Amino acid sequence: MEKNYRAELVGVFGDPVDGNPTGVLEEAGFAAKGLNYRYLTMKVTPDDFDTAMKSLKALHMKGINLTMPHKIAVLPYLDEVSEAAGIIGAVNTVVLRDGKLIGDNTDGKGFVQALKNENISPAGKNIAILGAGGASKAIAVECALADAASITIINRSEARGQELVQAILQNTNSSASYLSWSDAVSIPARTDILINATSIGLHPNIHDQPDINYDTITPDMVVSDVIFNPAITPFLTEAGKRGAKTISGLGMLVCQGALNFTIWTGVEAPYDIMYEALKKEFE
Ligand code: NDP
Repeated sequence: MEKNYRAELVGVFGDPVDGNPTGVLEEAGFAAKGLNYRYLTMKVTPDDFDTAMKSLKALHMKGINLTMPHKIAVLPYLDEVSEAAGIIGAVNTVVLRDGKLIGDNTDGKGFVQALKNENISPAGKNIAILGAGGASKAIAVECALADAASITIINRSEARGQELVQAILQNTNSSASYLSWSDAVSIPARTDILINATSIGLHPNIHDQPDINYDTITPDMVVSDVIFNPAITPFLTEAGKRGAKTISGLGMLVCQGALNFTIWTGVEAPYDIMYEALKKEFE
């Protein structure tokens, strides 16, 4: 049989992108499954984005991840987008299928899957989210589509917070409300799941923590962070001290990477191997 020396190509376009660790977990997955795929971490500036998007078909790539600042700029290039990506208004994963570019947003799906891995479902839950940026939007919309009872968006900028509330109310069956982020804001009573979806605590600012009243966290809450570097943030440590169950951002990152892996390859992702590969990066 003739050998095939050509690798299938996937990767990420972003700027800055040098510190993006997704390639580590995808490559670990490809190796474990014996797939001749390569994940390339590529710096693409906004000026070169058009050329880069056109190269997907020219290079017969399987797909691409988009990160800052391309998640919205990619929309005009796509033939189809998933329901969630349409509501969120941003795409982080593209697959090339039958000559078509199909976009999805796996950030929120990764979050929901990370919850499911801990036997927790957003269905029927009251969810409070700190922040209203890209990560918050993806998580809020996906939890709402998974039948959350209510979503409370706690954000500094009211306009951004209200915009997300309206997107949830108009497109899902979940109720949603905005809570102004005043100093040491109290987490609403009856919150089941609290999520930090801001960038507070991200390396190198590893001692920073969201300005909330930590004594309003109760032992029956599940508290999760989107920050994956470091894996354990002061926010999670404080929540743990109040008896809450805590879930780090590593699970969300690996789950979205695993979803992308399957979207591109059609093969079930080796989650544990991908998780261990990523965890080593932050030890
Ligand atoms: P954005 O810039 O889109 O949004 C950041 C949000 O954080 C905004 O709502 C902003 O509020 C809020 N914020 C930032 N600083 C403060 C502060 N000091 N006090 C109060 N609010 C603040 O970022 P993203 O949503 O794209 O990313 C957020 C984080 O999520 C990043 O650290 C990223 O690494 C992480 N992430 C993790 C993923 C994972 O798989 N674990 C996946 C995707 C992202 P305002 O609107 O008022 O400005």
